[in-house]
Amino acid sequence: MSKDYYNILGVDKGASQEDIKKAFRKKAHEYHPDKPHGDEAKFKEINEAYQALGDPDKRAQYDRFGSNFEQAQGGGFNGFRDFSGFSQGGVEFDLNDLGDMFGGMFGFGGGGRSRGPQKGQDLEMSVTIDFKEAVFGVERELQLKKGISCSHCHGNGAEPGSKIDTCATCNGTGRVIRVQRTILGNVQTQTTCNVCNGEGKIPSQKCKKCGGIGVIKEVVTLKVKVPAGIDHGQTIRLNGQGEAGHRGAPAGDLYLHVRITPLKGFTRDGENIHSDVEIGMVQAALGTKIEVETVDGKVTLKIPEGTQSGKVFILRGYGVPKINGRNRGDHLVRVIVKTPTNLSRKQRQLLEDLGL
Ligand SMILES: [Zn+2]
Ligand SMILES: [Zn+2]
Repeated sequence: MSKDYYNILGVDKGASQEDIKKAFRKKAHEYHPDKPHGDEAKFKEINEAYQALGDPDKRAQYDRFGSNFEQAQGGGFNGFRDFSGFSQGGVEFDLNDLGDMFGGMFGFGGGGRSRGPQKGQDLEMSVTIDFKEAVFGVERELQLKKGISCSHCHGNGAEPGSKIDTCATCNGTGRVIRVQRTILGNVQTQTTCNVCNGEGKIPSQKCKKCGGIGVIKEVVTLKVKVPAGIDHGQTIRLNGQGEAGHRGAPAGDLYLHVRITPLKGFTRDGENIHSDVEIGMVQAALGTKIEVETVDGKVTLKIPEGTQSGKVFILRGYGVPKINGRNRGDHLVRVIVKTPTNLSRKQRQLLEDLGL
């Protein structure tokens, strides 16, 4: 549905506003439905293109959104919506929203999609969990203040027992057609009915609790399962947990940004965990068994004789699970051989006697 408005008017991207106006007049006259070569669909398209490009502000918006739209078709909408302060963790984007944006911006409902009641607002908040909770997953209770469906009217905005009337302004269609007289004749534009907000229905008596919007603000407690394997900076999308929509419209989503507090001695690199362990010079030379701290508790690690400082041992499966996966990453233990200091005279003599 991405239309090249420049192409439709037959001008190039750098065309001046004056050129765009000229091109529009010429094309509009040519394709006007009353003319011999008239073509209503084409005429509408030309008009639509001019609505966007004829106004410098709208043209700038079109230039911006237009190019984004092309990218989107190639590969997702990551980062399109600017959540202040959070650029990580790519956010999903709903194509329908873009349809609305275009519909609203240019007056002609984009691809004939009916504009129903407005979906509720999306919300975002962050949750902080500790290192092991991120590895094994955790359930958290979150408290947030948000608009929820009014229990008194069940969200429809009408006082219980009162009638719900069909909106007289739009005859229940939610849309109002305006006919404007222009130099080209009558041009029809459709807009959302502002009496019923596009819903087509009006309560004869507004709900006393919510004032007719069907939504009240309340502090709610939400149980959230943070999946095992989540990483710092990732975002969980909770469908339908955002603000309730007005008068029964669908709720928005809640975006939960996850932060992880570090665990002393451990670092994480995706699905792998790293830590260091110190052993003595003699242990390294002769070999030994040591206890290593992991997220699953202590694990025995065999150090073979002749182990050099900096050697990394892998504890398979003691790392972080893949989100929604079974396998776990590894725990990589780096052995640091401690060289003794402050030797006594006797220790020094013994070492010298070894002749190593
Ligand atoms: Zn209510
Ligand atoms: Zn209406």
